[in-house]
Amino acid sequence: MSHNNALFARARHHIPGGVNSPVRAFGSVGGTPRFFARGEGAYVWDVDGQRYIDYVGSWGPLILGHAHPAVLEAVMRAARNGLSFGAPTAAEVDLADLLCERVPSMQQVRLVSSGTEATMSAIRLARGHTGRDKLVKFEGCYHGHADSLLVKAGSGLLTFGNPSSAGVPAAVAADTIVLPYNDVAALETVFHEQGDQIAAIIVEPIAGNMNLIQPSPAFITAMRTLTEAHGALLIYDEVMTGFRVGPQCAQGLHGVSPDLTCLGKVVGGGMPLAAFGGRADVMAKLAPLGPVYQAGTLSGNPVAVAAGIATLQEIDGPGFFENLEQQTANLVEGLRKEAAKQSVSFCTQSIGGMFGIYFSKAIPTGFAEVMTSDRDNFNLFFHAMLEQGIYLAPSAFEAGFVSACHGSAELETTFVAARRAFNQIQQ
Ligand code: PLP
Repeated sequence: MSHNNALFARARHHIPGGVNSPVRAFGSVGGTPRFFARGEGAYVWDVDGQRYIDYVGSWGPLILGHAHPAVLEAVMRAARNGLSFGAPTAAEVDLADLLCERVPSMQQVRLVSSGTEATMSAIRLARGHTGRDKLVKFEGCYHGHADSLLVKAGSGLLTFGNPSSAGVPAAVAADTIVLPYNDVAALETVFHEQGDQIAAIIVEPIAGNMNLIQPSPAFITAMRTLTEAHGALLIYDEVMTGFRVGPQCAQGLHGVSPDLTCLGKVVGGGMPLAAFGGRADVMAKLAPLGPVYQAGTLSGNPVAVAAGIATLQEIDGPGFFENLEQQTANLVEGLRKEAAKQSVSFCTQSIGGMFGIYFSKAIPTGFAEVMTSDRDNFNLFFHAMLEQGIYLAPSAFEAGFVSACHGSAELETTFVAARRAFNQIQQ
């Protein structure tokens, strides 16, 4: 038995399902998850010594690739001074300044330790600020695992959410209204009928948790206009898109100023760090200034903050996003060509350092369309690529990520593997 398989068997004794986060379990693609021992640049090595080109990048944070020297150096320097104080440090003030300078809609920011904490806190703040309970989210968007966000509408149910996880009280779910992504008419109807009860819209401004779905310009405008008109807040959940799609996140690309923004992943450079921030008058409602409580023992942790600052400094270099965007576009174009040569029904798109691959004829615009893509073909492709040392997200419904370390050599190797993988699908 490989070390990997032995480890997975052992892991299942004391860890439910053998993993500490469900999608790692390969449940959707089948097979045994890889246990990684090491990462460097664009590559990861599993415990059996097999090397892979990594297009997951820890689900987004590793925009500079694995073990980037500047990030490691910053982390080690910070660690030598102490791992945690539970008291203010100078570095967290530096990171707050950096975030507010780079994202103009954020006048103030609070640091937390995970994307879930950021979204959960932003929603509590929106409810506290508006004095309203209802929340609008969109089908297929993932905002972490807080109760009110684990809700998905049943068919035709626009007014009451149904929990999509056991353990979420129906009363909590009832305040979450779930609408189809990109559906302006549904949004208008809900605001027309219940606008005075809605605290906020929370949205992935480019959705990356149902594969990659882009918002239409009309959808972007409608969210901003309707929230403004009805006194609700617009929360951009940029945990995934923040500093991944561009230097000012998705809001910079859209030209939208949300009331609150949630950040995570890239801002922590691979360490447990996230943030939420926005309008100063709203942020002033947070404890210790205001009545909305939010706290964290490890919030603003100095080692995580050091990784975040080092990462943000590196991505500020000249041409960083232009290069990343071009390389990601080259990747998806190469994959598209390989699929076309073998007449596989396949399409792709990318934005910044994020990409989507779809085993379908057209690029989907929402959850229902994503669900019609050919999952069996994805699973065959995933395993054929994995066997050839290409590590893609183990699900047809996740975006992929390119780092600054993915060069032409890595892309070329990926195309050769894809040629064989598409060929296997054809047979
Ligand atoms: N929001 C978005 C858009 C995400 O993609 C994620 C995680 O993938 C989260 C929130 C939750 O972040 P975390 O896993 O750090 O709690």
